[in-house]
Amino acid sequence: MSNVEREVQEHVESGSTKIHFDQQCFGKNWILQSNKQEQVDHFICLICKQVANNPVEINCNQHKDMNETFIVGENCLKKFLNDNNNKCPIEFHDGCQYYKLYEMQKQINQLNVICQRQFEDETKEIKEQVDGDIMVICDFKGKIQDMNEHLNNQCKLKVLDCWFKQFGCDHSYSDRDLKQHLVDNMEQHFNIVIKKFEYMQKIIEQQRDEIKQLKSEKGIEVEKLEEEIKLNNNNEEKKENDQLI
Ligand SMILES: [Zn+2]
Ligand SMILES: [Zn+2]
Ligand SMILES: [Zn+2]
Ligand SMILES: [Zn+2]
Repeated sequence: MSNVEREVQEHVESGSTKIHFDQQCFGKNWILQSNKQEQVDHFICLICKQVANNPVEINCNQHKDMNETFIVGENCLKKFLNDNNNKCPIEFHDGCQYYKLYEMQKQINQLNVICQRQFEDETKEIKEQVDGDIMVICDFKGKIQDMNEHLNNQCKLKVLDCWFKQFGCDHSYSDRDLKQHLVDNMEQHFNIVIKKFEYMQKIIEQQRDEIKQLKSEKGIEVEKLEEEIKLNNNNEEKKENDQLI
C-alpha cells in the first residue's frame, strides 16, 4: 500500500456490510419467514441448528441402533471433523461415515424465501430498534436455488464499490448507501483524487529524470564506440598502406 492510500484509509470512516451466500447452512429464521415450522423441521443441521445446506446423513456402524437420523450440513460436518481430529460428532469415535442426501437437497432448494439481504437488514433494524416502518428495498421472492443468482445480479441491496476505489477509497455500499456516501464524502474524495494526481506527477518527473540519465549514459557509450571505430579504421588504413609499400 502506498502512503497516499494509507492516508486515505485513515481519512474515511469504515463500515461495509458484505453478505456471503456460499456453502454454509441457511438461517432458520430467514427461511421461517416464508415457510411453516414443520416444513423445515426435518432439515435442521445437528451442528448449527439452522437449515442444512448440502445435507448429509451420518451413518456409522458404531451407533447404528440409535433410532434417530443424524442430518448435518456438509460444511458444518467438515468443519467439525477438521476441528476435532476427525472424531464423529455423535459419539466421538474415529472413521465417521456419512452420505449425501441429494433428494433432501432438492427439497431444500425448492423452499420459498425472501431476499436474504433484505431479511438481514430488517433483523438489524429490529435489533437496533430503529424507529419507523421497516423499508423494503429489495422485494425479491423466490426459491433458495435462485438466491445466489439474485444476490449477485438483480438485488437492489447489492453491494457496490465506491466510485473512487481506484483512488484508494476502499468502501462498498448498497445502491442507496453509496449515493449517501458520495454526498457525505465529497471533500475526502476530492482530496484523494488530488493526492493521487500529485503522486502521479511525481512519478512522471522521476521517470523523466531517469530517461534523461539513460540518454546521457547512452550518449557517452556511443561516443566511445565511435572513437573505437575511428581508431580501428585508422589502423586498417595503416595496415593497407604498409602492405602497399
Ligand atoms: Zn450446519
Ligand atoms: Zn459416528
Ligand atoms: Zn435482494
Ligand atoms: Zn468513497
